[in-house]
Amino acid sequence: MYCTKKLSAEFPLVQNLIDIQETVWFNHKATSLEQGLPYVGLTVSDVNDASQRLQRFSRFIAGAFPETRPYNGLIESELRPLPAMHKALEQYFGQKLPGRLLLKMDSHLPVSGSVKARGGIYEVLKHAEQLALSAGMLAYDDDYSQLLTDEFRQFFGRYQIAVGSTGNLGMSIGIISAKLGFRVSVHMSADAREWKKNRLRSLGVEVVEHQDDYGKAVEQGREQAESDPNCFFIDDENSRDLFLGYAVAGERLKQQFDEQGITVDEDHPLFVYLPCGVGGGPGGIAFGLKLAFGDHVHCIFAEPTHSPCMLLGVYTGLHDNISVQELGIDNITAADGLAVGRASGFVGRAMERLLDGFYTLHDSEMYRLLQLLDQTEKIQLEPSALAGMAGPRHVVSSPEYLQQQQIDESRLKNATHLVWATGGGMVPEEEIQRYLNVQH
Ligand SMILES: *Cc1c(COP(=O)(O)O)cnc(C)c1O
Repeated sequence: MYCTKKLSAEFPLVQNLIDIQETVWFNHKATSLEQGLPYVGLTVSDVNDASQRLQRFSRFIAGAFPETRPYNGLIESELRPLPAMHKALEQYFGQKLPGRLLLKMDSHLPVSGSVKARGGIYEVLKHAEQLALSAGMLAYDDDYSQLLTDEFRQFFGRYQIAVGSTGNLGMSIGIISAKLGFRVSVHMSADAREWKKNRLRSLGVEVVEHQDDYGKAVEQGREQAESDPNCFFIDDENSRDLFLGYAVAGERLKQQFDEQGITVDEDHPLFVYLPCGVGGGPGGIAFGLKLAFGDHVHCIFAEPTHSPCMLLGVYTGLHDNISVQELGIDNITAADGLAVGRASGFVGRAMERLLDGFYTLHDSEMYRLLQLLDQTEKIQLEPSALAGMAGPRHVVSSPEYLQQQQIDESRLKNATHLVWATGGGMVPEEEIQRYLNVQH
């Protein structure tokens, strides 16, 4: 337990977090890519390696998941302009939001309908590749669609995969592992949705339900894997591979920007707003974005007021040495995937110099934004995926931050605000209707 008095004397915003107030913090530790990169411990060649691995698997993916064929077996999402939502947000917040507003629709990524279709699937594919390579069953230049055959399914059936999750990571890992033929156990935290558990069980995935939060579910998964040498544990809190799977998004987005004629440079800054749970997803994506766009991209993380673990960890420098529960914050939120009380120590330490800011928002605000997006653009997301939508307002109304970034009025007018939508594509219709009818 921390002495909260002492902590908030040194870090005044801690009191705001304890009081469950919406909080904005621009990070004075943020620096240039050149200076921040060495601390990440990973390089552009690691991301290229991940990208090439996904390329090798593209024929397998296209065969296993026909919906990926428009992207040639790459699991990629659409970039969508939000002109009507942009106007509605200006009205809602009562202020101009100069620049353009875009949505990155990882909410509708093929295979598992959330951002976890990047990192989670990548890590399972990498593991499968290593097993098959060491068994002499596969070579890098083979056609990977042979992984769809019974021979490979039987081979992978000798191995097990375990993961702890609030829901969406379990969905990704479960779906891809089952497709390859692995035996797979998903340890679900108490807040995981019933429909996700049911979906997984229908695929033959073992779902282990826990009465505790995400941290405990992860711990249980880790323990299961330790007792079995043929069991591989996907470590959402520390995995470099998950992180790299997410990071591939950077070059993919750059290509989409090039195709759509969207410029990012000194005079055309890019702001990206990323919902953050344990940090691997937004951290990996931010890393990839930094490699792709350099210092012209500004990454900002969004968390629920009841689960501000990354803001707390980076702001105090305590990283995974503190949890929100230790401050008496309950870590209870309707935002699936963001209900995490203790941030990844790896991501916070690796990325703290490359992230411009952090903010929190209430669940009620996520619901309002969810309903507004439905009304204006006919796009339905899950609550977490709206966390980024409050970001442009904070950037635009923080003159000190903008000045420090040397973004004047004319540059701000040229800005692109990209909200990363992280989930919602597989949410059942009746659940969506419930979200749309929540009173706030
Ligand atoms: C997992 C998840 C996130 C955040 O990813 P982390 O790696 O946990 O930070 C955001 N939104 C949704 C919908 C998620 O499932």
